[in-house]
Parts: sequence; C-alpha cells; structure tokens
Amino acid sequence: MFCPFCRHPDSRVVDSRTSDDGTSIRRRRQCPNCGRRFSTTETASLNVVKRNGVLEPFSREKIISGVRKACQGRPVTDSDLAVLAQRVEEIVRSSGASQIEANDIGLAILSPLRELDEVAYLRYASVYQAFDSLEDFEDAIGQLRIDHHSASGSDRPADGAGA
Ligand SMILES: [Zn+2]
Repeated sequence: MFCPFCRHPDSRVVDSRTSDDGTSIRRRRQCPNCGRRFSTTETASLNVVKRNGVLEPFSREKIISGVRKACQGRPVTDSDLAVLAQRVEEIVRSSGASQIEANDIGLAILSPLRELDEVAYLRYASVYQAFDSLEDFEDAIGQLRIDHHSASGSDRPADGAGA
C-alpha cells in the first residue's frame, strides 16, 4: 500500500474498524516516511452456506434477529445485540474462510451469548442444539455451574461433569 502523498511503499495500520453492515474493514494508516495518515477500505466477502446449500451473504441483522427471540424478557438491549453480532462476525472472519456453514455460525453465537445472558443462552442452545429432554437442560446448566465455580476461583474441584 503506497502512501498517496509521498509514494513510500510501506505504511503502518493505526486503527481498523468494520463497517456497520459488516461488509468492509476500514483501516487508518500512517506513512512512516512523511507521517501523514490516510484510509483504506478492504472488502472481504463472507458467505453463509445454508442447510439447503444456498449461499447468502453474511448478515449481522440475521444474527441479531436469530438471537433476539431467545432474549425476550431478558435485560438485553439492542446495543448488546449489536455488540454480540459484531463479536460473532469477528469469530467467523478470524477463520479466514470466505464461506461458512450456517451451523458454524450457530456455534460461534453460543459463547458470546453465554457471556451476555445465560438464560438467553440456554434458550438459544436448546433450539440450536436440539435439546429434547430435561437431561439436556440439566447437562447445560450443570456445565454453567461448573464454569461459575472455576471462574470464581473456587478451590473445590469441579465434580460430576458427566460425559
Ligand atoms: Zn508518505
């Protein structure tokens, strides 16, 4: 990336941000030669392979609408959902792939959603992972409890993790 001012062939990235629609990354760069700053925009396509094999562009809106239902009645704001969708996109894009299975997006949602709201997480996981019995819920809740213990630095060993 040549500096547009002095044509120096190298530049340093000082800031990167993804556009609101998630389709491009804008980088602020600084020329180490003349010190001036300029912006570049990079667009990386990311497509979702749906279960029926159809490709569609990745959309944060779709992530939000998919998660919103699980968050009904929970203290989760629109901006929480926007941050979650951004994190999901970062997780998905970090693989470097230009295509991702819809199923993998579901997986990428689980971890940030769990940090956001555990009840919403259980609701979402119950649909996404097709919980079909109380035991499935018990296992998921048990796992949350174990993680709470280890996160709070409990000195009791986590037991009953199950298989
Ligand atoms: Zn320059």
